[in-house]
Amino acid sequence: KEKVPSDIEISEAQTPKPVTQLAHEIGLIPDELESYGKYKAKVELSVLDRLSSRKDGKYVVISGITPTPLGEGKSTTTIGLAQALGAHLGRPAFACVRQPSQGPTFGIKGGAAGGGYSQVIPMDEFNLHLTGDIHAVTAANNLLAAALDARMFHEATQSDKALYSRLVPSKKGKREFAPLMFKRLHKLGIDKTNPNDLTPEEIKRFARLDIDAETITWNRVLDTNDRFLRKITVGQASTEQGHERVTGFDIAVASECMAVLALTTGLHDMRERLGAMVVATSKQGDPVTADDIGVGGALAVLLKDAVKPNLMQTLEGTPVFVHAGPFANIAHGNSSILADRVALKLAGTEEGDSADRIGYVLTEGGFGADMGMEKFCNIKCRVSGLKPDAVVIVATTRALKMHGGGPDVTPGKPLADTYTKEDLVTLKEGMQNLVRHIQNSKKFGLKVLVAINRFASDTEAELELVRELSLAGGADAAIVSNHWAEGGAGARALAEALVATCEGESGFKFLYDLKLPIEEKIAIISKDIYGADGIELSDLAKKQIETYTLQGFGDLPICMAKTQYSFSHDPKLKNAPTGFTVPIRSVRLSAGAGFLYPLLGDMQTMPGLGTRPGFWEVGLDPESGRVIGLF
Ligand code: ADP
Repeated sequence: KEKVPSDIEISEAQTPKPVTQLAHEIGLIPDELESYGKYKAKVELSVLDRLSSRKDGKYVVISGITPTPLGEGKSTTTIGLAQALGAHLGRPAFACVRQPSQGPTFGIKGGAAGGGYSQVIPMDEFNLHLTGDIHAVTAANNLLAAALDARMFHEATQSDKALYSRLVPSKKGKREFAPLMFKRLHKLGIDKTNPNDLTPEEIKRFARLDIDAETITWNRVLDTNDRFLRKITVGQASTEQGHERVTGFDIAVASECMAVLALTTGLHDMRERLGAMVVATSKQGDPVTADDIGVGGALAVLLKDAVKPNLMQTLEGTPVFVHAGPFANIAHGNSSILADRVALKLAGTEEGDSADRIGYVLTEGGFGADMGMEKFCNIKCRVSGLKPDAVVIVATTRALKMHGGGPDVTPGKPLADTYTKEDLVTLKEGMQNLVRHIQNSKKFGLKVLVAINRFASDTEAELELVRELSLAGGADAAIVSNHWAEGGAGARALAEALVATCEGESGFKFLYDLKLPIEEKIAIISKDIYGADGIELSDLAKKQIETYTLQGFGDLPICMAKTQYSFSHDPKLKNAPTGFTVPIRSVRLSAGAGFLYPLLGDMQTMPGLGTRPGFWEVGLDPESGRVIGLF
C-alpha cells in the first residue's frame, strides 16, 4: 500500500477552486457573498430570507466515542462523509465545523481540518486567522472587561452627582439619556424620560452599579496558550490610584461572546444576548449585565461580521461552513446555529423537487457523544428549534482497545502491540463504551450510524466485531470507512448507509424539560447519559442554584463542564463506568449564551504550552511563501 503523505502536503498539493465558483455551485447569488481572499468568503444572512420557503435538508450530528489520546477522527470523518455524499453520490452535502483555536494549533493538538485525504483546504488558512472571527470575539470580550474595570474606578473616585453628570452629559444646556440608558432605567423601575426629573435617590441608583468586586466573573481573553496569564493583578499603575484587582485571562474561545456567536439566531437576537451577559453581582445582590455598563451595542458592532458564516471547501471541492468554536468544556462545543441554518436551506428542497434532490448537513459536536452530542441536542437544538435526523458515532479499534484496558501511550515511544496487532479480547471489552453512546443517542429519538474509522493496521476480524456488537447494541447501521486513506471514495458505503438511515421523519426529543428544577436537570444528565448513581451538590453549588432560581435563571438548559476523557467526572475511569456519584462543585451562569454550567472538577480555561509544543515544527518557506510543518 502506498504511504499517505502528511496533512499539509496533501492540502498544498490541491489547488482549491475559487470561492466564487463554489458559491455559484451551491446556489448562492453574488450579493450574498463577501470574499476574503480567493478561497474563503462570508455568507450574508439574507440568504435565509431568500430561501425561507425551502424545506430543510437532512440534519446529522457527528459525534464520537469517549476521546483517548489515540484520536478517533471525528473531523476527518465529517469531511470524508461530506466528500462521499457531495462528490461521489451527487447529493448536496455541507460539512459544518468549528473554527479551531490558535492555542491548541500551536500547542499540543495541531490543526483541526480533518486529515489524510479528508480535509478542509487551504488548511493553513483554516487553522490560523480564517476571517478574523476569533479576533473579533477577543476584541468584544476585552472591551467589556475594560469597561467594567473603568466603571468601577470611576464609581470609586466620583460623587453621585459628578458621576451622573458625566454619564448623562448636558448638550446645549439640556441633559439627554443615551439610548441604552432607558434599558437601565426600566430595569430599575424608574419611569422617567427627562434626566432632570430624577430625584437624588434615583440619581444614585442609576449612576452606581455598585459592583461587588469579589463577584466578578468576567475575565480578559487571548487566543494563545499563555499559562502565565491564568492569574494576574490589574490596576498597578499609579494612575489607577491603588484600585488593584486580581483577575485572569482565558483562552479566547472560552469567552461567553464566542458561545453567543455560536448560539445566536440573528442580529437582533445577538444584540440582546450580548447585552444580557452577566459579569458580576452588585452589592445589593442584583446581576450586573453588559447593558448596565452601556457596552452591549458596541459589542454587537464588533461582532457584526463575525456573525456571518465562513465558506470554505474540502479537498474534493464540496462546501464547508467554518463558524464559531466555543470551548467544549465550559461551553457547549458546537459550531454555529446560523451556519447550520444556512446549510440546511442550501441543502433543502422546493415544493415539487424529487426526493433524491434532498441534501445533507453534517455538523460536528466536540468531544464524545456524552458531551458534544448531548449539548447539541439539549442546548443548540433547543435554541434553534431544528430537529436532527441522525447521529454518526465515530469509533476506531485502537481507541476502543484503550477503553478495554489497553495501556496509555507515551509520546515518542512505539505503540503497544494491542494497538497495532489483532486483539479481539481487549477490543470486545472496550465496545462497552461505544454501546453506551449508542444507547444514549437512542434516548433522543435519533437514528444511530456507527462510523468505524479504519486504520491501516485494523484486521477484518476486528472490524467485523465492532460492526456486529454495534448492531447488537442498537445501532441502525455500522459501516467501516476508509476516507482518511482514500478520501470520499473510501466513505461511499458510509454515505449510502446515511442516506438510508435518514429516510422518514425525525423522532427527535429532548432529554429533559426546562421547567424542571436545576438540580433535577443535572441529575437527569448524570444518570441517563453518564451512568451515574446520582449527584452530590456542594454547599456552594446549592447556594448558587438557589440564587439563580431567585434571579429568574432557573429555566435555562444545563451545560455540564466535565472532563471529556470519561463518562464520569474522573478522567481515569475509561470505558463504561458504573457505581459513581457525580460531585457538583459549583454552578456558573452564562446568561447571554443562555445556559447554566455546573463544574464537575477544576476546568482549565487557559491551556498552557508544554516543553515541546507544536509550533516547533511550524515554519515559512521563504521561496514559496508556504506554511510548513502544520499538522
Ligand atoms: P477528532 O476530530 O476526533 O479530534 P481528527 O479527525 O482531528 O480527530 O483526527 C485526529 C488525527 O488523527 C488527525 O491528525 C488525523 O489525520 C488522524 N487520523 C484520523 N483518522 C485516521 C486514520 N483512519 N488513519 C490514520 N490517521 C488518522
